Amino acid sequence: MTTDANVVLNECAGVLQYCQACFEGLKAYTTEDGRIVTFRPDQNALRMMDSAARLEMPQFPKERFLDAVTRVVKANAAYVPPYGSGATLYLRPYMFGSNAVIGVKPAEEFQFRVFATPVGPYFNSDAKPVTICVSDFDRAAPHGTGHIKAGLNYAMSLHAIVEAHKQGFDENMYLDAATRTKVEETGGSNFLFVTKDNKIVTPKSDSILPSITRRSLVYVAKEYLGLEVEEREVYMEEVKDFAECGLCGTAAVISPVGKIYDHGKEIPFLSAAEGMGPVIRQLYDTLTGIQMGRIEAPKGWIHVIDQEDK
Ligand SMILES: *Cc1c(COP(=O)(O)O)cnc(C)c1O
Repeated sequence: MTTDANVVLNECAGVLQYCQACFEGLKAYTTEDGRIVTFRPDQNALRMMDSAARLEMPQFPKERFLDAVTRVVKANAAYVPPYGSGATLYLRPYMFGSNAVIGVKPAEEFQFRVFATPVGPYFNSDAKPVTICVSDFDRAAPHGTGHIKAGLNYAMSLHAIVEAHKQGFDENMYLDAATRTKVEETGGSNFLFVTKDNKIVTPKSDSILPSITRRSLVYVAKEYLGLEVEEREVYMEEVKDFAECGLCGTAAVISPVGKIYDHGKEIPFLSAAEGMGPVIRQLYDTLTGIQMGRIEAPKGWIHVIDQEDK
């Protein structure tokens, strides 16, 4: 454990020259009954192992990952915001190649670290629907690294997001790079659509980052709400036929999409005027209810940080 947030590295470090780095994101928060918990951290551990394998980094063991997260939260328990505030303690586990490498090859030494920082509520009063545009840039190549949480996926999306913001959009919708006909995801969240007859549809692709929030929402839709769910390829052409659209990720859980702009064509969704559409609202309320301890969680989803044995 260290209180020093600075990392000193050789300038030839693998992370600085060849971007050999991956990360995770999760939050610690206070439930209704006053416990400090994290949500499905085992899934973050497993995903980081997948990211590491693809980047020729050692797979940090799941048990050690969970232990590190637990210890960081315990040490920062005073900074975990209270129940009802909507604020959380954001946790960022990450790993990078740290020794000097000059030929193009994987590093031999790595650092695994976790930092924590309190973050405010994602939604201030109510969920304001976001406006997104179909990007002319690609996020992930077929057979590339779109399915892992690598910093390099973000480095190349920065230009696209700055451009989108300049045009007044909140986010980019990326299409599949090979045919540019299928929906992938935004820079940092997965799509979830609702059909007019209340079916959930979520895009399936090897170059989408498998969002833990999206997978949890799919489970909630099936097992708690009795909704039908289709995980399949979603064509851009059919997006106009969906009733509701949301973006899934740890930060917001699910944020409603008001409009998608596809090269001059405007595609509106039910959420536009009244915040979240009804089905996305139900999904949001149920999953946040599970997270906050108001609704019984599936086994293993809530990881309690025991504060007695500090
Ligand atoms: C982290 C991330 C998500 C969201 O994943 P969660 O596990 O739900 O936080 C979605 N897309 C990309 C590209 C990501 O990096």
